[in-house]
Amino acid sequence: MIPVNEPLLAKNALKYVSECIETGWISSAGSYIKKFEEKFAEYLSIKYAISTTSGTTALHLALASLDIGKDDEVIIPALTMIAVPYAVLYTGALPALIDVDPEIFNIAPEKIADFIERKCKHDPHSKQLIDKSTNRVVKAIMPVHLYGHPCPMDEIMEIAKKYDLYVIEDAAEAHGALYSSKGNGEIILKAGSIGDVGCFSFYANKIITTGEGGMVVTDSEKIAGKARRLKDLAHSPEKRFYHTELAFNYRMTNMQAAVGFAQMEEIDRFIEIKRGMAFKYKELLGNMEGLTLPVEKEWAQSVYWMYSVLVEKNFGLSRDEFMRKLREEGVDTRTFFIPVNEQPLFQDNEIYRASSFSVARELSEKGLYLPSGLALSEEQMVQVSNAIKKIKKTS
Ligand SMILES: *Cc1c(COP(=O)(O)O)cnc(C)c1O
Repeated sequence: MIPVNEPLLAKNALKYVSECIETGWISSAGSYIKKFEEKFAEYLSIKYAISTTSGTTALHLALASLDIGKDDEVIIPALTMIAVPYAVLYTGALPALIDVDPEIFNIAPEKIADFIERKCKHDPHSKQLIDKSTNRVVKAIMPVHLYGHPCPMDEIMEIAKKYDLYVIEDAAEAHGALYSSKGNGEIILKAGSIGDVGCFSFYANKIITTGEGGMVVTDSEKIAGKARRLKDLAHSPEKRFYHTELAFNYRMTNMQAAVGFAQMEEIDRFIEIKRGMAFKYKELLGNMEGLTLPVEKEWAQSVYWMYSVLVEKNFGLSRDEFMRKLREEGVDTRTFFIPVNEQPLFQDNEIYRASSFSVARELSEKGLYLPSGLALSEEQMVQVSNAIKKIKKTS
């Protein structure tokens, strides 16, 4: 079976981890934490990077560091990984769901604007944006750079500025993805470094991995300081074992950071592999009737975290039949995410039960991703493509 994802570990990972074990610096005080954080911040051209235990805890830490909580609301895409709405719920806030773009699958800025104009009221005195149906204060937008393609950040930042909202980018699938901002003369920015805060995951199937792990990045000294304090039980600097706020233990270990540091030495090569894979798939599968391949906007450079395709009506087979047949041919695939409002967890809340997002719905029915791990060989890609062609011919 050709797996959907097989990780690739950097050359120096074993050497650096061995060093942690040999020297006894296995917990979160070792030197690799600082080295990994500094290298990551430098890579993104951002001032502060704060390591955490996962992408999920990075998202939660980011929200908590912005004081988002009870009575608040956070705008997120309707089609996303479940950690995004979870992180919002952990704080006591509620996610406000917005439909996505049919081409790049990311939150659609014009639909955010529409939600704000139709469903919210903006109080110019308090500068608060209130969702009229929940009476909650909308505090932030959390765009997710889905499957490695950046969101249209200029438009999102503009809305955020107009209504005094924070922007927390979920770049868990988009390490190194590039965005060309027209804002102040054209500049190229890395995904995760554009909003107030960016969050990353280093789970085994992400662009770089530490096994499990995450990172919060920001240019704000204040947010960074709060994130550092909250991730480490909020120890009082003046008095030992004295605590004034509720905090967490989201500390990464030195061993994970050692793996992360080694991965950072090779991140550009990993991204080249991913992009090379996308070009190869396009070459092999282009022009197949009923199969829509991922697009890359002219203002973006995707890292193609997962090679995501859409099985259209005229393909001849449903997405699920297609996946089953691919499985018989020894090719493993995964479906797209399920819209947040359709998750059983959200069904007991009338707001979500009564909502529907046509694009998210359709994508979740048509979308799947092909094997696209960093360890995938060109030969395996040809096998995948041959299997697809065979299934297509006999359907
Ligand atoms: C993987 C992922 C996360 C969560 O990261 P973990 O490290 O698995 O907790 C969050 N958001 C998105 C978009 C992801 O793909």
